[in-house]
Amino acid sequence: MVNMPMDFSAVFLDRDGVINKPIIINDKPYAPKTYNEFKLYPGICKSLKALKNNGFLTIVVTNQPDIGNGITQLYEVQLMHERLMKTNLIDEIYMCSHSQREQCSCRKPGIKMLTDAKKKFNINMSNSWLIGDRWSDVSAARSAGLTPIFVDHGYAETKSKLQTCINAKNLKSAVKKIVASLPIYNQS
Ligand SMILES: [Mg+2]
Ligand SMILES: [Zn+2]
Repeated sequence: MVNMPMDFSAVFLDRDGVINKPIIINDKPYAPKTYNEFKLYPGICKSLKALKNNGFLTIVVTNQPDIGNGITQLYEVQLMHERLMKTNLIDEIYMCSHSQREQCSCRKPGIKMLTDAKKKFNINMSNSWLIGDRWSDVSAARSAGLTPIFVDHGYAETKSKLQTCINAKNLKSAVKKIVASLPIYNQS
């Protein structure tokens, strides 16, 4: 008998616009700069629980260039992430804190956060998903072999690249689509 290594399915979650409300200025989304501005969408715990009940790892992958740009203090973001980890419904948070001009490989649409998670948790990317609200999320998902779900908030930005993507109006409806796609004996 070959000893088959166990692999896992994951749902990668963008943070701002998926888990918490972005700050909207002129129809464009921005990250909250302080813990006081960090407001979770109602019902996210229920959605995360549904993912856990269906055997998914839940992994947040977030670009926070305001840290690298010196606009946001790292400790404010750490407070936000402590809050998320306290739900006990998130397995890991990966963050790119670099500014855009640092040209790192972790900033989405780069895939280093995704491939790091893949290695750490032994994730089967072809059974895994990424839920995000920007084209950079969709692009990173595709480059990494994940199925993207685009949460469409109607931001003023180009959407041409997103036309063939599964759309959802929020995390709840994205999770419903994921669960509905599972083989019936696997659904819970
Ligand atoms: Mg976002
Ligand atoms: Zn980075």
